[in-house]
Amino acid sequence: MHISYRTVPAPSPGRRNEDFVIAGPDWIAVLDGATAPAGVDSGCRHDVAWFTGRLGAALGRGLTTTPESGLVDVLSEAVREVMAAHQDGCDLTNADSPSSTVAMVRRRAETVDYLVLCDSPVALAFTDGTVTVIDDDRTEHLPGGRPYSLELVRSLRNRPGGFWVASTRPEAACEALAGSVRAEDLRGVLLATDGVTRLVQWYGRTWEQLVETAANEGPGRLIAQVREAESAHGTPGGAKRHDDATAAWVWW
Ligand SMILES: [Zn+2]
Repeated sequence: MHISYRTVPAPSPGRRNEDFVIAGPDWIAVLDGATAPAGVDSGCRHDVAWFTGRLGAALGRGLTTTPESGLVDVLSEAVREVMAAHQDGCDLTNADSPSSTVAMVRRRAETVDYLVLCDSPVALAFTDGTVTVIDDDRTEHLPGGRPYSLELVRSLRNRPGGFWVASTRPEAACEALAGSVRAEDLRGVLLATDGVTRLVQWYGRTWEQLVETAANEGPGRLIAQVREAESAHGTPGGAKRHDDATAAWVWW
């Protein structure tokens, strides 16, 4: 399995990248940590980058040491592992505890497994030219519609009828969109955080175009295109001017 990826923090002095990517011989995981709103007490001694790094490492360990496990089980176990890594004084019942999206792809002999939790999609590019996007867009459809209040988001996080993220509830893994497809039907798979998918959401690109760019010019080109579009067109009202951006293209 060939794996190519690039992750770039939002251009802002001193800011850490809250996206995270980790890959092995036949798997990759892409994470996008949720930036805490200013002034919100997360109840945790750790920052978001700590969380995504720990979770990514735990996923890598699970994918490596229990290759027979399904991706949902790997994720729930990894969440459990990170919960145990918090310290005394970290309140794991706090609704603003650090959290992250998860996108995972793993090649097995005949199949490719995928998992998507929250808004880091996986695009399956088939050999017949079609692209199927696995997109957990529950954050786009919260009850009542936008704008979302902090209280609303907090009350719906990891709750039935709301949306699910990797944080302090291992059972969130069961809410992920997960499945398998035949490897021989696939040309490759694109994974991206929402810092990249704004090319589709805001700037008029199609997923087919994103796949072509990643396949022909590499995933780093997608991030360059995001920065160009952000500078040329700005961002819709209230949105961050730039976001951490990660794209990965895997093929065989
Ligand atoms: Zn903590």
